[in-house]
This record gives sequence, structure tokens and C-alpha cells, in this order.
Amino acid sequence: CGIVAYVGDRTAYPIIIKGLQRLEYRGYDSAGLALVNDGVHVYKCKGKVKDLEEHAKGKSISGSIGIGHTRWATHGEPSDNNAHPHVSQNGKFIVVHNGIIENYSHLKKELINRGYSFKSDTDTEVLANLIENIYLEEKVDAEIAVRYALTKVVGAYGLVITCTDEEDKLIAARKGSPLVIGVGEKEYFLASDATPIVEYTDQVIYMNDEEVAVINKDNLTLKSIQNDSKKPKIQKVSLSI
Ligand code: GLU
Repeated sequence: CGIVAYVGDRTAYPIIIKGLQRLEYRGYDSAGLALVNDGVHVYKCKGKVKDLEEHAKGKSISGSIGIGHTRWATHGEPSDNNAHPHVSQNGKFIVVHNGIIENYSHLKKELINRGYSFKSDTDTEVLANLIENIYLEEKVDAEIAVRYALTKVVGAYGLVITCTDEEDKLIAARKGSPLVIGVGEKEYFLASDATPIVEYTDQVIYMNDEEVAVINKDNLTLKSIQNDSKKPKIQKVSLSI
């Protein structure tokens, strides 16, 4: 339903919490986030962003890279386990996802045959494990694993992903579910609409369908899922607050 992510030098946690609150108007049943800081910390629960803050209280909330999500359940009831982010079986990939993976049951069966088991009922966890399975079996970079996995997916997605082996970057992708990148000074903001971004920057990139962005605080590269380079088109945001 709602996505917020950050990479830069600031502490990601308050930016993500505030951003998720800005997206509350969309409606949701669960909220969660992952913070990268020498490993990844995941906090998620059924309920409101306030409940998530309560849940994270007293725990490690440092880190300058993070991804957050508010969920509107489509596959699996609203629950702590089904809340995003979803972590792949071996802990390599952490995923937030808006939309629906239509062929998830087929992909899930294949992964179960390959020894994967699942902690949630979501279509999103299937995607996390699919990416990880390709990454580990093909021994490719995270970005290649993501792009290759997406060629196998039928459905709609706005995605932001972190890989624990490549901790400095976020990988974002979209098809049929909007994703906006805010461009700052040595920092980037991502969100499912511009509302959480406008207070930080008015320079944005609206991702197009079947595009994948690899983002660290100093650099952004944009490609098609098929690996064609794309030139990011930075424009002034068209939203007023
Ligand atoms: N299909 C995913 C789920 O049920 C994402 C739903 C959403 O867009 O929030 O968890």
C-alpha cells in the first residue's frame, strides 16, 4: 500500500516513520520497517504506525539506510508475520512491496521444491525468496538477481529491496504500482507517492514500468528489467503542500 525509503547521511528511522504517517490517508492494516546498520534490523506489526513506534521503542533505531511499508493485505490476513518487510530464508534480501504477484502460488511451489519454507502467507515473501534463490544459485550481484527474478513475475509491484551483502544500496523497481524517487544532496528518498518526499526536496524521478533503480547515497543508476540503460529524468515535483 505505502512505501517510504531513505539512503543518505541522516538517521533513516524518523524520516521513514514520518513518511509512513504521511501515507496513512491511503488506509492500511499493518506497518513495518527495516534499518541497515551493520546488519539489518526489522520491526513490523499489525496495526498503526503508532503501534510500530511503540514496538521499536528501546530497540536499535540507528542507521542511515532504511525501508518502510504500510500494508493493505491482499494475500494473507493482517498479522505481524504477514506485515512487511519480508526477509528471505537465508536473510540475504529484505523486501517491501506494493501490489500483487499473480503467479505467486506457482513460484512458491517451485521454491518449496528447492527446499524453501515460508514464514508468512504473502505473495511478497515468495518474491524475497525467489530473488535470494537466484542470487545464491547463479552467484550474481543483487541487482542482477532482482532483475532476473522480475522477468519471472506476473503481476504488479512497487518494490524497495536491500541485500545484506551489499548494504550501502537500495534497489527499487516498479510495474503498475507507482514509485517516486526524491533526489537530494548526497541522499535519496523513495516513496509510493511524492507526499512524504516534498518536505526534503522538489527534485523527483517518477519511475516507469519495468524499470529498476540501484541507489546509494552518491549515485543512482536506472535500467530496464532487460538491462537496457535508462537516463533518469529529474523533474520538479508537481505536488503542493
Ligand atoms: N500483496 C502484498 C501483501 O498482501 C502487498 C499488499 C500491499 O500493497 O500493501 O502483503
